[in-house]
Amino acid sequence: MAVQSDLLLRAAATASSALFPHRCVLCRRFDVDAGRPLCPECLPRVEKDRQAPACPTCGSDAPPAGVTEGRCRRCRGRRPPVSRAVRVGAYGHALGPLVLSYKYDADSIAAAMLGQWLTEAVTRASQLADLPSLMDVDAVVPVPTTAWRRLRSRLHVPSELSRVLARRLDRPLAPALRRVRGGPHQIGLTLEQRIDNVRGAFKLSRGAALPGARILLVDDVSTTGATLSECARVLRRGGARWVCAAILARAATAMEAMLGV
Ligand SMILES: [Zn+2]
Ligand SMILES: [Zn+2]
Repeated sequence: MAVQSDLLLRAAATASSALFPHRCVLCRRFDVDAGRPLCPECLPRVEKDRQAPACPTCGSDAPPAGVTEGRCRRCRGRRPPVSRAVRVGAYGHALGPLVLSYKYDADSIAAAMLGQWLTEAVTRASQLADLPSLMDVDAVVPVPTTAWRRLRSRLHVPSELSRVLARRLDRPLAPALRRVRGGPHQIGLTLEQRIDNVRGAFKLSRGAALPGARILLVDDVSTTGATLSECARVLRRGGARWVCAAILARAATAMEAMLGV
């Protein structure tokens, strides 16, 4: 899998370098070797965001000292609708802008890198005992957007990522959710307002059959987790046994939440 991913990355980098020779996908300076997507300055910055410590259960930022028996203080003693969430990294100053390149510029190199890293995060997380294995899911489900927003944007990142994960994990892709209400963007809202904002915004797709299904829910960025929780609630009401989530980045501030989560 890693070899194939590496080949895909190199192919994407080579295709792009024909148009923009030796361009770093993050800082856009022309000082990278052919076939390398990130320059020597940006690579460690992205790695720092990828390696930011996270809670293995809910995916929030959490120093190792704050995690007890696999749970941080946010999720300890709770049974949230999302059984566990894994991420590529913290939003940060490098991973966040890379996600923006993917989301708003449809950058194919950023897409290839982030798809590969998300697959790696899911694979790595599945090796932890005592938590649901994300390799054993019955379906990969993207967090949907409204038909109107979908028409306006160049691509829908959760659907793209779900396609990548479904292919790499050899699991079926199932668009089991639809968004029936857009609601205002979540920027600047409190946690309670965010929860209200997404309540009732999702429904099961027509014909979706989930009894006993183990679901991997996929989104690009999550801030409070309100959207993921609401989607998981709908899936579980539809019969899903459990719902885990895979996201690119966990954002910690309202500014970072501009990605619209
Ligand atoms: Zn750079
Ligand atoms: Zn946690």
